[in-house]
Formats: sequence, structure tokens, C-alpha cells
Amino acid sequence: MKIKSQRPRGMKDIVFDDAEFLLKIRDLITDFSILNNFKYIETPLIENVKTFTLSLGETTDVISKEMFYLKGKERGEQYVLRPEGTAAVVRAYFENGMISLPQPISLFYFGKMYRKERPQHGRLREHTQWGLEILNSEDPFADFLIIYLFCQFLKKIKIQNFIVKLNSLGCSKCRKKYLKDLIRYYRAYQKKLCSDCQKRLKLNPLRILDCKQESDQKYKELAPNILDYLCKFCKIHFQKVLELMDYFKVNYELDKTLVRGFDYYLRTVFEIFIDGQNFALASGGRYDLGEVISNTALPSVGGALGIERLKLVLDELKISFKPQLTKIFVAFAGEETRPKAFEIYEELQANGFKPQANFFKISLANQLEYANKLGLKYSLILGFQELSREAVILKDMEYGTQEVLKLKNLIKDLRKITK
Ligand SMILES: [Zn+2]
Ligand SMILES: [Zn+2]
Repeated sequence: MKIKSQRPRGMKDIVFDDAEFLLKIRDLITDFSILNNFKYIETPLIENVKTFTLSLGETTDVISKEMFYLKGKERGEQYVLRPEGTAAVVRAYFENGMISLPQPISLFYFGKMYRKERPQHGRLREHTQWGLEILNSEDPFADFLIIYLFCQFLKKIKIQNFIVKLNSLGCSKCRKKYLKDLIRYYRAYQKKLCSDCQKRLKLNPLRILDCKQESDQKYKELAPNILDYLCKFCKIHFQKVLELMDYFKVNYELDKTLVRGFDYYLRTVFEIFIDGQNFALASGGRYDLGEVISNTALPSVGGALGIERLKLVLDELKISFKPQLTKIFVAFAGEETRPKAFEIYEELQANGFKPQANFFKISLANQLEYANKLGLKYSLILGFQELSREAVILKDMEYGTQEVLKLKNLIKDLRKITK
């Protein structure tokens, strides 16, 4: 069958197992975030381009080549599909008067982001991110908490083999001297650097450290280390973050080449890696977008975890994430017994069971075959005889044994049996 219109490049339909996974993980993340006192925020998928150009910096890859622009302008404003969550959260903080609430403000989001990248393993053009942001706090405990919560969540879903890479990018004051020395260092190898890095040397020297080209790796080792340039305040701040990481036994290592893709980061930056994967599962850092978005200082820290990447990791680690199968299948013998079977199914639901059924298969044999495929432990079978006797057959699908249960005691008996 030829389909005349296909989905856009680098995008996916989320169906079947992936769709169930998405619902389940969103529930887990929502519960986890709320439990940790983060409030939910949902900003539009479409934002004014200025939200990002003001904050991410004009020279970052995202701004210069990866944004999806909406055609035409509206009242002189250019709209784009959002490439990331943080800048819009800061915009929303100011636009919704959160500054007048008790500070800091802890927010979480869960939603789609868009990047016009070359599609490849672990990189989709439309992807889902879970973000945590603590707005208006300079406290190093906030930096620690964001990183720690992502780690705790990974552990909760049975992912153990991860490591946090950490660095501090200092503040604008300490970075000035560092950039000067970094440029001086790399200028000596200018001609040998890859073409991207030659450009970066002029426009965004910090990003040279992020270059993935094999031929450029050898220069990184002797490049000046930003941690040697931190001012007194940045040094103390980073020290306190590390002390908390030690105290709570977070598995981390310092990485002087960790600079992140956006310009807005300062002080703490982090990435969380799983053994054997070449992409970060979660990442983030400290930033202050208050000045550029609303002329008010707003020291903040946040991070985001990629949901599609998380699914890749879970699949590779063979961690099953199927919703727990219910133990009971409700079956019926023919159309006449279907309404009563549906009633029983509803009664089970109302009493906290999560029964399965297939009301579109009329043949009992087909229903039981379906129940077998689901791997359920029990089937409740409603036949003609049972219907008239106000009873139902409970069949143990594993051992093939069966017993008759009275409908009036059904819930009580099932609780006992399925415990
Ligand atoms: Zn500093
Ligand atoms: Zn390079």
C-alpha cells in the first residue's frame, strides 16, 4: 500500500509499546517531581524567536542552523518551534508575575522540543524532555538538588551505571581572563584545527572544547583549565556543590572540557552519562537569563532529561518498562452474556482491579487465546449456565484448574485469591 503523505524527516509516531512507555514514564516523572515540590509548567510549543536569540546566543548551533521557523511574521514578530525549555520558562516566570511569590520557584515541565539536526542515533528532530528548574536561587544546594534528583530518578527506574560529569564555567568576570588564555593557546594550532573550530576561535572559543573531531582532541589535554581561573565566589560556590555531591555519594567526575551547547550557562554545568553510551542522558547547569529577558537578575539552575534517549537506554539495558499486567481476564460465552461480562469488568475496575478483556471477540476460544497471549494468570469466564446461577468460573491459566465463584462474593474472593 502506498501512503501518499509521510511523516516529516527525523520525527516519529509514538505508537504501541513506545506510547505506553510515554504515558507510564510521564506519570512516574509527574509523581516524582511533585513529591519533590516542583510545580508543573507548560509553555507553548511556539515561541517568539527573541526568547531564544536573547538567551542562547546568536552563534550557538541551535540558533544559527537548527531552528524551525514558522513561515511569515505576525505583527513583526518571528515565531519558531521551541528548541529547548529553559528560556521559555524564564520568560513565563516574568510574564506570570512569579517574582512576587515566595522564592525560589521550583518548576518542572514535560514536553516536545524541536531541532533541525541531521537525524542520527539518539538525536531526533522532535524529542521529549523532562525539565527541572529552580528559579531565583544562588544557593549551591539548588545546583546539587537538580543533579541529585535526576540521579535519584534514574535509580528509581533501576538504572545504576551512570556517571555525572561536572564542571564550572565561572562567572563573566572569571571567564574573561580564561577566554583570553584559551584563545592564546588555541591560536598556536589555528591552522590545524577543524574548520568549525577555526570559526569558533573567533565567535565562541569556549565551544572548541566541545569539538568532537578526532584530530582536535589532542589539543584539549594541555588547554588551560577553567577551574584554575575561578574567582573567589565561583570557587566557593563550586566547592559547596562538590561537598554536597560527596556527602550524598553521587558518582561524579570533573571534566574541564564540559562546556555545554548554549551560551547562557555559568558556574555549575553537568551531564549525566550511562556506561557505553556516547550521548548525555540528562544535562543542564546554572544560568541567569533574567537580565536579557527582563532586566532583572534571576540566578537559576536547571536541567533536562531526554525521554527518547531514556527509552534507548532502558531497551539496551533490557529493563522492561511495560505497565504491570493485570492478573485477570474477563471472558464471556457469546453475545448474550457480553453485557453481564462488561458489568463484571466494570465492577472489578471500581474495586481497584485492572481487568483485561476483549469485548469484540465473540468466540470464547478466541478470547481465551488472546488472554493466553497477554500472559495473564486468571480468566473469569461467564457462560450461559453461570449467568443463570449468578456465578462465574475462575480459571487458573497457568495450571488449567478452575472453580466456580458466586457473583455476590466475587470481589472478596478475588482479593483473597489474587493476593
Ligand atoms: Zn567568578
Ligand atoms: Zn574542532
